[in-house]
Amino acid sequence: MSQHLLSLIVLICLAFPCTAQYKLLNPQVSKIVASVSEERIVEILKKLENFGTRNLLSSQTDPVRGIGAARQWIYSQFRSYNSRLEVRYDQYKLKKITEPNSRVPRDVDLYNVVAVLPGKVHPEQRIIISGHYDTLVLTGPTGNSTTAGETPPAGDPNGPEPGVTDNASGTACVMELARVMSQYEFDKTVVFIAFAGEEEGLLGSSLYAAKAKKAEQQIEAVLNNDIIGFEASGSGRIENRRVNVFSDDPSDSPSRTLARYAREIGERYVPMMKVDTVFRSDRVSRGGDHTPFAQEGFAAVRLSSPQENLANEHTTTDTFSNTSPAYITRVTKVNGAIAASLAWAPMAPETSEQVERGGRKVTRLFLTRGTARSDAVLKWKHSPDKDHAGYVVVMRSTTSPFWEREVFVGKVAEFTVPDVSIDEWVFGVKAVDLEGNESLVSPYVPLGRPKRVVEVY
Ligand SMILES: [Zn+2]
Repeated sequence: MSQHLLSLIVLICLAFPCTAQYKLLNPQVSKIVASVSEERIVEILKKLENFGTRNLLSSQTDPVRGIGAARQWIYSQFRSYNSRLEVRYDQYKLKKITEPNSRVPRDVDLYNVVAVLPGKVHPEQRIIISGHYDTLVLTGPTGNSTTAGETPPAGDPNGPEPGVTDNASGTACVMELARVMSQYEFDKTVVFIAFAGEEEGLLGSSLYAAKAKKAEQQIEAVLNNDIIGFEASGSGRIENRRVNVFSDDPSDSPSRTLARYAREIGERYVPMMKVDTVFRSDRVSRGGDHTPFAQEGFAAVRLSSPQENLANEHTTTDTFSNTSPAYITRVTKVNGAIAASLAWAPMAPETSEQVERGGRKVTRLFLTRGTARSDAVLKWKHSPDKDHAGYVVVMRSTTSPFWEREVFVGKVAEFTVPDVSIDEWVFGVKAVDLEGNESLVSPYVPLGRPKRVVEVY
């Protein structure tokens, strides 16, 4: 190719950079995905197993065995990754819970271990990557009952509780991504959390989520990792190229929107993995640390292995030799892709506003039928970043789980889809930047009519 032609192409690319970037890989995100190290994950899993037990009620003071030694090690590891990580304990004094088979039979200190990587453009926006580091061995294997909490704890919190797949696997994902991602600067704040008290009823995450809600924190996404180490189920079924992402109803809830994003971006950057969205809050009658966040109104999903080995869970055989570091590594890469993309992505456009009507605040969608009464007219509000490239309008039929059509519409604040009924389609809009990072979709979701109270006499 001649030098002149090459410079002409470079000039054209500089003059019209926007449309060419949509759906292209951001090389920085690809680098993060490639940097996730299986050797590091193996080291973390073995170290966590070697604490013997990480039961909430195990020793807080023994230097080598128990939850106290484990949390101090996680804390010091976070500190060692990068000085820009702000590491702290999120500490609580729990009162004992008096009930049959109580999992908190005495007062106990609970420590979540938190590492914050402050954002540069939207520091108030937080992306959380989490996993619980505590363990619990029960008197019988998981899954024999669908009644939560029916199987009582084994009794001795200082006895052997390796807890490698449940949930050194999720903790290793959080720690490895803290190491890799802290080498970069993101637009938004990324928060890495190892929760405690999950096995006693999502205690650490519930306390954290309630505090975040009270402080009016802006949490854009929670990626919770719990049981991401099994690739073979008890029946011998093997699957190691697939991960489940659980999200709560309704079909355009913040968590469901995040789950669609996780599927789109996870599979884009880690194409050997199938990211399967499961449209329920969690596995049947079982829970995880994403749920307290979803209940507070934040977007929160659970990543989990589709082939759980229930015979090993909550027993002394949940060991390193019964887990798959290669599978954990792939799921960690999926997490890295989703979190890094979102942490560099623009904010989602606004598709509605609050207005006063009859003394009450109601939500008004920026979606109308237009002057012809038979079009879909979409408007949005958004403050673009410096690297803004434009907007993408998406649509799907009301029965479809995923967005079916999308149009890159450029730097506009309104778009008309002619001759389609707004009653038959769900619409959404997202913002895209020049590096190919995409915001979450903001759906145009019709809200239920407020219930009318009729007084009679
Ligand atoms: Zn767990």
